[in-house]
Amino acid sequence: MAPFVPIYDLHPDDATIRASLDHVEPPLLAALALATGDVDLLRPDLQPDLSNPFDPEGGWTLEQRDAAAEVAFDALIQLRDRDRNTAAPVDPEHLRPIIERLISRTVDDTFLDFLREELEVEGVDLRAPGWHKDTVAPDRDFTVAVVGAGMSGLVAAYRLQQAGVPFVVLEKNADVGGTWLENQYPGCRVDISNHFFSYSFAQKHDWPQLFSTQDVLLDYFRGFAEEHHLRDRIRFSTEIRSATWSDEDGAWTLQVDGPSGSGLLTAQAMIVAVGQLNRPKLPDIDGLDTFSGPWFHSANWDHGVDFRGKKVAAIGNGCSGAQLIPVIAEQAARIDVYQRTPNWFVPTPDYHDEVSDSQRWLFAHVPFYSEWYRFWLFYRGAEALLPCTKVDPGWPSGGKSVGAANEFLRVVLAEYIEAEFADRPDLLAKVMPTYPPAGKRIVRDNGIWARTLKRDNVSLITDPIQRIDPTGVVTADGEVHEADIIIYGTGFRASDFLVPMTIVGRHGRELHAEWAGDARAYLGITVPNFPNMFCLYGPNTNIVVNGSIIFFSECEVRYVMGCLRLLFERDAAALDCDREVFEAYNDRVDEANRQSVWGVATVNSWYRNSHGRVAQNWPFTLLDFWSASRQPNPDDFHGLGPGGMASSGARHDALH
Ligand code: NAP
Repeated sequence: MAPFVPIYDLHPDDATIRASLDHVEPPLLAALALATGDVDLLRPDLQPDLSNPFDPEGGWTLEQRDAAAEVAFDALIQLRDRDRNTAAPVDPEHLRPIIERLISRTVDDTFLDFLREELEVEGVDLRAPGWHKDTVAPDRDFTVAVVGAGMSGLVAAYRLQQAGVPFVVLEKNADVGGTWLENQYPGCRVDISNHFFSYSFAQKHDWPQLFSTQDVLLDYFRGFAEEHHLRDRIRFSTEIRSATWSDEDGAWTLQVDGPSGSGLLTAQAMIVAVGQLNRPKLPDIDGLDTFSGPWFHSANWDHGVDFRGKKVAAIGNGCSGAQLIPVIAEQAARIDVYQRTPNWFVPTPDYHDEVSDSQRWLFAHVPFYSEWYRFWLFYRGAEALLPCTKVDPGWPSGGKSVGAANEFLRVVLAEYIEAEFADRPDLLAKVMPTYPPAGKRIVRDNGIWARTLKRDNVSLITDPIQRIDPTGVVTADGEVHEADIIIYGTGFRASDFLVPMTIVGRHGRELHAEWAGDARAYLGITVPNFPNMFCLYGPNTNIVVNGSIIFFSECEVRYVMGCLRLLFERDAAALDCDREVFEAYNDRVDEANRQSVWGVATVNSWYRNSHGRVAQNWPFTLLDFWSASRQPNPDDFHGLGPGGMASSGARHDALH
C-alpha cells in the first residue's frame, strides 16, 4: 500500500509560527518528527521527565520548553517551505523511535499496533468493523437492540451502521447523551481532557476548552448522532421493562414502554449500554423527605430553584459536589458543605481555561498534533499513573499509602493541599485525606475548592449528619443547621448494574438473581447463560486513574462487532460465554483489584459492592483492555459450531 501522505495547509509567516509556540508540550515534537520524517527532533536533552504524572509542565523544565520551541520553530518553517506543502509520507517504522524517545522506554509490537490505530497514521479508522453483513451473512434475519443512546450506545449504533447490521436504539430520555444529558448541575464539566474524552474516530480539533462543560459535550454527542443519521434509529422516551431469551427462537423478547404504550420487540442480540452511573442514589438519612424546602439530587437538577439570598445545604463532595458547590456558593447567601470524606485533588491549573489561540493554531495546522496530544493524555494520565496505585505487600498496611509509588503520589498531592490551605490551618486539618490517594476517584482542581471553602458565606461541616428535619440538617452533636434548599451530590447506584430491568436468560435464570448483588461479566461484556447479550461499561470496566470511559466503550463495541461477525460466519444462533473462562477471568481481575489501592483502602467509595468486592474497576492498563478486546476468541464461547444452537454446550476450536 502506498504510504499515506497527509496534506495540510501551512502558509503562515514566521511571526504566526513564533506566536503559536508560547507553550510547547512534548507531543508537539513527536508530531513534527512524524510529519518531517526527522526523528532526531526528539533530542536526548529534550526527553521529558515522566516521574511526576501531574507535573503541569509535562515533564519539561522551562529551559527545555524554550529549547523545544526553537526546535519546533525550525521544523515548522521547514514544513512550510517544502514543495507542494505536504508532510513527509508517513512511515510507520518511524513510530518506534518517536514513541520510545517521547516516553523514555522501549515498547513492544503490540504497543506500536495500538499507536498506529490511535494516530490513524495510515489515514484510516482501523477500529471500524471492516466487514459488512451484506457480504458475510446477506440472508440472515438479524436485529440488534441497543439499550441506551448515551456515549456508549451511540458508538454501538455507529459501528452497527457501518457493518450494515439492522438495529434499533431504545432510549429512556427524550434525547441522546445519557449522563451528559442528565447531569445538568451548574459547573458540570468533564474531568478528562476532551481530546481523550471523545471518540477516536470523531476527533475535533477546535474544542473551546481543554475540559469541556456539560453543554459542549452534549452538543458533541448530539452533533455526532445528527451527522451519522443515528437519531432516526433511536426510539426516544422508551424504557425496557424486561428482556427474555428464547433458545427456540434464538432471540430476546423485550418488553418496551414507549410514548405510544407498551409492546414487545424481538431482537437476536441485545447491547445494554446503560452505564454504571445511570441511577442517582439518595442517601439513607432519616427524615430526608420531611424537609420543607426544595431538595434534589445533582443528576436531577431543579432549574426552577433560585439560590439567591438562600441558605443551602450541600451533602456530598465527590466529583459532582466539588463542581457544583463553588458555583452555588457564588449565588447563595450561605452554603453549608457537609463533608464525610475529604478528596484528593489533581492540581490542574488550566482546568477551566479556554484553549489558547496558539494551541488552537497548532491543533488545526500541525499534522498529527491532535492525535499525539491525545496519546500524551492517555499515556501520562492513565498508563504512567497506574503503577502509583499498586499495593506493595511489604508496605505497612493500614497506612496512608500502599507502596513507594503511591507514597510518592501522596506526598505530591498533600503538598498541593497544604499550599492551597496554608493560610487556613482550621480548614487544612479537615480537608487533608488520611486514606491513600486513588483509594477513590481523585478530583480535578484549579484552586477553586480552596477558594470556595475560604469564602465568608461557606461553612465546612464535618460532624456526621444525624437526620434531616423540616428546617434543615441535624448533626450528631445535636446542632440544627437551618437550610432553605438541600442539594444531594451523593452519587449513583453504581453496583446495581442494569437496574431496574428484569433480564431472563437461559433456563429461566434472572440476571440480578444470578448476580445476587455482585455483578460480573467476562471482559465486562458477556455473562454465561445470557447469550447474545453484551454490556457496555459493564462490571469491572471503570477506571480510577484518569483513563477515558469512551476509550473502553470503543474497545467493547469492537469486541461485540467481532462477536456478531462470529455469529454470522459460523451461522450460529447464539454465542454464550463459557463458565470456566468467565470464572478464570474474574479471578484474575479480583486478584489484581486486591493488589490495587482501591481494593485495600477502607475509605468509602462506590467501587465496592455490598459483598465488599470491587465490581466496578479495571485493575490493568488501558492497553491491556485494548489487547484483550481486539477480537473475541471463539474458544471462549459455546454455540459457535456448525448448526448453531444444536451444538450449544460444546467447546469449539478457534476460528483461525
Ligand atoms: P460519589 O463520588 O459517589 O460521591 C458521593 C458523595 O456523597 C461523597 O462525598 C459521599 O461521601 C457523599 N455521601 C454519600 N452518602 C452520604 C451520606 N449518607 N452522608 C453524607 N455524605 C454522603 O458521587 P459523584 O460525585 O456523583 O461522582 C460519581 C462518579 O461520577 C465519580 O467518581 C466520577 O467517576 C463520575 N463523575 C465525573 C465527573 C466529571 O467527569 N467531571 C463529574 C461528576 C461525576 P463519602 O465519600 O464519605 O462516601
